[in-house]
Amino acid sequence: MVTPGEVYVLLVTAMALVALAVAIPVLLRIVVDGRARLGEEPPAHPDEGANPGAGGQSVDPDRPRCPHCGTENDADFVYCRECLEQL
Ligand SMILES: [Zn+2]
Repeated sequence: MVTPGEVYVLLVTAMALVALAVAIPVLLRIVVDGRARLGEEPPAHPDEGANPGAGGQSVDPDRPRCPHCGTENDADFVYCRECLEQL
């Protein structure tokens, strides 16, 4: 005769085994990825290469400068984002 306590222990053990079976591949993957990242060069910031005009002196026609303070604004801006003058 199986007591309720034994059923509970069996259920908990089974769930723990299932959880381990699921978690072990994930943990292994994390470890492998972490080691791969440690081994390779730190990735360069992709945003810097994709947006070379940021912070530069080049004037983008799509980013008109405010006639009041000279701040670049988006083309669809009506008011300067810096000084709130009308563009
Ligand atoms: Zn302005």
